[in-house]
Amino acid sequence: MSSDNRLDLEFAYTPYADSCRDLYSPHYYCRRPRGHDGVHAAGFGTNRLRWEHLPDHAPHMLS
Ligand SMILES: [Zn+2]
Repeated sequence: MSSDNRLDLEFAYTPYADSCRDLYSPHYYCRRPRGHDGVHAAGFGTNRLRWEHLPDHAPHMLS
């Protein structure tokens, strides 16, 4: 299974309340489960985004 397929599954099975929600931009936040390993990710298909955690990243503003 490709990494993209694995992310699709993670997104599908992770409710918003249990997601990481690290903010990439005002429109994209991490959809992976809270406490996940590796890079943050959001979006589907050609809109898939991955980003490294930034230690000085502002806290997310969506909750
Ligand atoms: Zn994340």
